[in-house]
Order: sequence, then structure tokens, then C-alpha cells
Amino acid sequence: MVVFVINCGSSSIKYQLIETESKKKLISGLVERIGAVTSIVKHEVPGFKPVKLTMALENHTQAITEIMNFLQNNEFNVISSLDEIKAVGHRVVHGGETFKDSVLIDDDVIHAIEEAIDLAPLHNPPNLKGIEAAQKAMPTIPHVAVFDTAFHHTLPAEAYLYAIPNRLYRRYKIRRYGFHGTSHYFVSRRYFSLNNLSRENTKIISCHLGNGSSICAIKDGYSVDTSMGFTPLAGLAMGTRTGDIDPSILFYLVEKEELSLKSLHELLNRHSGLLGLSGYAADMRDLINEMQNGDYRCKQAVDVYAYRIKQYIGNYMAVMNGCDAIVFTAGIGENSAFIREHVLANMEGLGIVLDKEANDNAGGKGEVLISAPESKIKVYVIPTNEELVIALDAAKIALAANQSPWI
Ligand code: AMP
Repeated sequence: MVVFVINCGSSSIKYQLIETESKKKLISGLVERIGAVTSIVKHEVPGFKPVKLTMALENHTQAITEIMNFLQNNEFNVISSLDEIKAVGHRVVHGGETFKDSVLIDDDVIHAIEEAIDLAPLHNPPNLKGIEAAQKAMPTIPHVAVFDTAFHHTLPAEAYLYAIPNRLYRRYKIRRYGFHGTSHYFVSRRYFSLNNLSRENTKIISCHLGNGSSICAIKDGYSVDTSMGFTPLAGLAMGTRTGDIDPSILFYLVEKEELSLKSLHELLNRHSGLLGLSGYAADMRDLINEMQNGDYRCKQAVDVYAYRIKQYIGNYMAVMNGCDAIVFTAGIGENSAFIREHVLANMEGLGIVLDKEANDNAGGKGEVLISAPESKIKVYVIPTNEELVIALDAAKIALAANQSPWI
């Protein structure tokens, strides 16, 4: 089945067309700066040079129309007609407590995603815009929502409850939700496949290290704890986000710098993390370069980043009473041998020994075992593929919907 996968930001749309039986990506692309005077559109068909265009796209509906026009571009032969697309899979960041799995989108689902806007004000509104625009463009095929939070619905109460008055959880649903669920799910399943395992009796720590970073403890195939929390601001230090900090710092800052709620939000989400610590960049490549040129603040930023990951690995080993494998994924996890080595240095006492050569040479090789033979805990690099999870879920749900007796 050919599935259109859509991931909408406030001014961007990332898309892929995936053939789910062969799991092949037919085309991928990105529209940026929607609503600006000039929008930037990129399409990549495997085997062809990427196409980069600029044009004025006022809203998400126009952007989706532009993508669909390109899909019909015969020069690339991606599909012969739009009728070949049988389902659309939408990435939705926050499903609140309602969604424990992907779902066929109907009015009730839209309503529930709207209800979760409070919990994800930056993410859910653009996700809804994408759904609306895509439904308009493809009204006759099933649309499926796949939630970043759903994989973490198995967290036990001791992992998801914050130590605040319980009525706040009951009234406002303030709890740990966790994010990057499709990525943690994907790499854990790839690990099972690579090792011919079923999920029972397995303990994995999955490290999704990208611009946004999170770690997940996965026991028997289920998420039992994860570093992001009520929002994606918690946990590890990230490109521009603080990760965990003492909440008292906020009161102190409000008093000292007379910050408004809005500027506090900006400070924690956009000016902190690697960027804030280094005063130089949020991008790990730039930081490692500058660090190697002797910049001590860039070195500190990299050290804080790696130290937090090490702490969480120890934390989750305690939670699961050990672990069989640690998996690194996403931009930094897949590409930075330096960060992987930094994180896992001096962990022989816990049974983790890296194979330096395998680690150094893992770049661009796909799924690679990078632990030494004597390491009790296996360490892998496994490239993530969130779009494939979305496409497969959408195909499964679309198929089930089409087979319903009343259709
Ligand atoms: P993502 O959000 O998964 O796209 O990851 C983005 C992050 O991956 C950025 O911080 C990039 O600097 C980082 N990244 C990509 N390639 C490398 C690399 N070769 N070495 C270090 N960091 C990298």
C-alpha cells in the first residue's frame, strides 16, 4: 500500500511517500517558511538529484497542493496517479491520556487532539492544520493519527506521576507523557529483529539523540520510563532546551530578571541547552569542531550533554535491574562516534565496553554493533525511521477500516 506520511510544524511540512509492503521510500520532501513571502520546497526522489524550489505558499493547504502536484510530475515516475495513495499517516505530537495507539481520524479524534492543545501548544495546532489540509486534498481515503506519546502509555504510575498534589494530576492531567515514541518503538523492534528475539525478557535503553533528545527504558518491549515529561522540555540537555532543572531556578529568575511567562518559556525552550551553555551553537557538529579548536565553553556544553545521558543510562539500568542493550539513534546518536564514546567512557564496571574501531567506523553503515565482544551489554547504532512506523500503522488501520462490514 502507498501511504502519504505527513509531519507538520507551524510553518513547515515534512512528507514521505512509502510503499509499505517493500517498506520503500518513494519520495521525501520538506516545505519550509509556509506563510512567509518566499517558501522553500525540497523534494528528493531516490536516485535523482534533489529538487529545490522557491515560491509563495500562504498556508498548509497550498503547501499540500504543491506537494501533490509534484507527485504527479511524470519526469520522476514516483506514482502514476494520485489514486495510488491509499492512506495518509499524520504524526501528532501529543495524544494526552486518551490515545494509547494510532487511530483512524474522525471528528471525535480531531476533538480529542484539540483538547490536548493545552498540553502541547506548539505542536498540536500545526498537526491539526496538516490534518485539515490533507483531508481537504485527499477526502476519500483514510487518515490516521500516530502519536509521539502513545508508546509511553505503559509507563507505571511511579514513573509518570510527579510528586505534586494528586488533585493536579486528576484535574489537569499533569504527569509524564514522554515523546519520540515512534522512534523508541522502531529501534527496539529493529534490535529484536537483528538478534532474533521476541520482546519477552528483554531490557533495552534507547537513546534518541537529535536536536530534541530523549532516552527510554524498554522492558519486555514496553516503555517503562522515559526522560521527557509533561512536555518535551524535560530530561536531557538538548539543542536549545534545558532538560531537567531545579524548578526553584524559575522563581529566582522571575524575581531577579523580572521575566514574563512568555520570556521564561523562550529562555528555557529556545536559548538554553547546548546553545545556552556554549553561547555559540545548538548544532553538535559545530560544538565538537569548536571544542577541538580549544573553546572551553563548547567543551563544557558537550560534557554536560554527554554526562546527562550517562546519568539516565545508569538510572534506567537501576529501574530495569540491568539491561541487555543500549541503542543510539537520531542525528547525534547515529552520526557522532565522539558523543557515543564520551557517554560510555568508564562504564566497564556496569558491563559496557565499546569497540573503538567499530564505533569510529559506524557512520553511514546503517545498523552496527559497536560494543566489544567482552561487553556484557550490547551497544548498537540503529538509524531510526519514524516515518516507516507511521506508514505501517496507517496502512494497518486503513486496511482494517476498509474491511469493516459496513463499508
Ligand atoms: P536530528 O534532530 O535527529 O536531525 O539531529 C540533529 C543533530 O544531529 C544536530 O545537532 C546535528 O549537529 C547532529 N549531527 C548530525 N550529524 C552529526 C555528526 N556527524 N556529528 C555530530 N553531530 C551530528
